[in-house]
Amino acid sequence: MISKDTAYKLTLAGCKILRREPLSKYCSFRIGGPADFFIEIPNEQALFVFFKNVPANYIVLGSGTNVLFPDKGYNGIVLRLTGDFKKISVLEDEISSGSAALLSNVLQVALKNDLIGLECAAGIPGTVGGAVYGNTGSRDKWVSAVVKSVEVYENLKKELINKEKMDFNYRKSGFTDCVITRVNFSLKKDTKNGSLKEVSKNIQKRLKTQPLNIPNAGSIFKNPDGFSTGKLIEEAGLKGKRAGGAQISQMHGNFIVNTGGAFSEDILTLINLMKEKVKEKFNITLETEVKIIE
Ligand SMILES: Cc1cc2nc3c(=O)[nH]c(=O)nc-3n(C[C@H](O)[C@H](O)[C@H](O)COP(=O)(O)OP(=O)(O)OC[C@H]3O[C@@H](n4cnc5c(N)ncnc54)[C@H](O)[C@@H]3O)c2cc1C
Repeated sequence: MISKDTAYKLTLAGCKILRREPLSKYCSFRIGGPADFFIEIPNEQALFVFFKNVPANYIVLGSGTNVLFPDKGYNGIVLRLTGDFKKISVLEDEISSGSAALLSNVLQVALKNDLIGLECAAGIPGTVGGAVYGNTGSRDKWVSAVVKSVEVYENLKKELINKEKMDFNYRKSGFTDCVITRVNFSLKKDTKNGSLKEVSKNIQKRLKTQPLNIPNAGSIFKNPDGFSTGKLIEEAGLKGKRAGGAQISQMHGNFIVNTGGAFSEDILTLINLMKEKVKEKFNITLETEVKIIE
């Protein structure tokens, strides 16, 4: 899939190429077999070399906090942006961030510069690219509210897309088959300190309601209109149910935790159980939020 010649060109461009790299190392579930190739790309020139030389059989990974990898691994290339793609800069009330920067770092920069608008991101792990891809946020406040434009690569074609052309909705951005490389946020100047209070309130709430000290991938399912999936799962009597090393969290019904040695199959067994029981009891079809990679 990657010839010696291509590997040489990529290495020369500064990429790091790992063969049969276990994906469990790169996701918050700590689950997943090896990727055929795991490639870290440090800057735009290297990304260009990648697109020029490598066939389109790849997936992009951020911090891996919203993915479930298969136990057999990934038969293809997993691409991760790093280096220059982590840079963040501020100009007046705008923050421009490389897609590999952590969303929490962008929030910190916003707070330091008295810029408000990103409070819904407080306590959410992951990169800026992953956040925009999945329109991360709380139930009714999403990062898209402050996105101004997004730079993407679709193979060799680079484009800066303005918000009006995007298709944001609840946990949806409309971005597919592209690599998000940069996000420009448009925020508001506010020196009243209200932002810090909201951020700390959001973090306190998470500490009380989420199993943050056990590997997990956040909410497994989206919330159906007018319902909380966590409550539906609790009312279906599923909290604490186990499959191998996986367990539906006792703390939050919409979280599955890896209590140690869980396989992807164990997580999928619980996902199917949750779907089935919620359908049976409430006639509601749950839709996964976590990205299940095949
Ligand atoms: C404890 C915990 C709490 C969480 N709470 C929330 C919450 O409150 N709200 C919420 O919305 N989410 C939540 N999540 C889920 C997760 O943190 C977010 O979805 C996060 O934005 C994912 O970012 P990531 O970098 O980890 O993406 P990844 O998991 O690495 O990837 C997710 C998807 O984005 C794509 N992607 C990533 N980067 C790029 C890129 N540069 N270009 C193109 N595609 C890309 C991937 O291909 C994949 O399909 C939580 C997770 C955990 C573990």
